[in-house]
Amino acid sequence: MSNSAESTAESSSANPFKIAQRQFDQAAEMLELEPAMRDLLRWPRREYKFTIPVKMDNGDSRVFHGYRVQYNDACGPTKGGLRWHPEETLDTVRALAAWMTWKTSVMEIPLGGGKGGVTCNPKELSEGEQERLARGWMRVMARQLGGDRDVPAPDVYTNPKIMAWMMDEYEVVTGRSHPAVITGKPLVVGGSLGREDATARGGVLCVREACQRTGIDPSGSYAIQGFGNAGQFAALLHRELLGGGKLLAVSDTSGAFYNPDGFDPEELVEHKRRRGGLSGMSGAREISAGELLALEVDILYPAAMESVITGANAGEVRARMICELANGPTTPEADEILEAKGVHVIPDFLANAGGVTVSYFEQVQGTYNYFWPLEKVHRELEAHMVNAYASVYRMHEEQKVHMRLAAYLVAVTRVAEAVRVRGWV
Ligand code: GLU
Repeated sequence: MSNSAESTAESSSANPFKIAQRQFDQAAEMLELEPAMRDLLRWPRREYKFTIPVKMDNGDSRVFHGYRVQYNDACGPTKGGLRWHPEETLDTVRALAAWMTWKTSVMEIPLGGGKGGVTCNPKELSEGEQERLARGWMRVMARQLGGDRDVPAPDVYTNPKIMAWMMDEYEVVTGRSHPAVITGKPLVVGGSLGREDATARGGVLCVREACQRTGIDPSGSYAIQGFGNAGQFAALLHRELLGGGKLLAVSDTSGAFYNPDGFDPEELVEHKRRRGGLSGMSGAREISAGELLALEVDILYPAAMESVITGANAGEVRARMICELANGPTTPEADEILEAKGVHVIPDFLANAGGVTVSYFEQVQGTYNYFWPLEKVHRELEAHMVNAYASVYRMHEEQKVHMRLAAYLVAVTRVAEAVRVRGWV
């Protein structure tokens, strides 16, 4: 992820929760929602903020701050990942939980939205410290979770190993087997085939659908900002699913790199695995984070953190299409600028919804304890992505609004209807 993303996430002008509320307000206005409905949907239903004391390897104890926000459960149990990040705050978690609510809704899966996290730098924690932190988080939250309540999953800097420790701790606390309490687990303890690359796969499928409608060349050039799980799989799957494409630039915390002849995605992934970062790739010229975002490419994948494309740099963007694999990479000011420039933006909670969709499949499989072959996961994911992209695109055309607002109109309508039929408002 780029340093600029990390440093802007906390500034008050780019407070992600304020951004999430502004985006929602625009949709609520267009949908003419009544005041009580607006009040309900612009705030989380429940929030947990707590301390987690952890015994460190050197014998000292350290106290971490943990969070879980259950944003809205009108459509089903709340669902969403856990982010371990040095800059995590209650407001970043609230924003991410709101976006999960709209994500599950736009995908038409029977779940609500939630998110959680810990303020920490996992790169500075040993494996044992990570395990104790994961188990500590779960001990606090176990009573508020469950397949019929709230189901966590991985997000930035968390992974299947952490999910397995958390599931195990949940089972210790509750004294029963309950694989559907958390998703993104390793296969051997009830994970789903196809979960690992699902976020990127869903995004690339959206790009395919978008290219068919916009005439943008799927085998043209692309760039990836952020080279974690989603960015790496996007690099690979873009070629595999779209039948071509030249990967011109890529970035991670070690820097941004450009290769006019195009990178080999497999080599990049292998280099990152061996060296821990992208720097030192042969044929690569180092560029700035800003230059990467301003490259002339057919498709740009922001795949790191919030608020990287802002009012200050959106004017420089020369990509024809942006597929937001990160949550919240584009601010509302940037949205207006990109719309005026005619950039086709596939908004985050549609573009990166493949992850939670396969998490939902994992929950379903874990609940009836019977697991699907990979082909079935891929088939079901594709059907969900194609359907969701089509409904957002239809709204975009009918209402003549940009794709993010169209996605909000689709998602908020469904949640508001669930709130209404439940008789809450
Ligand atoms: N953290 C992912 C997201 O932002 C996945 C959530 C999940 O699988 O529940 O969508």
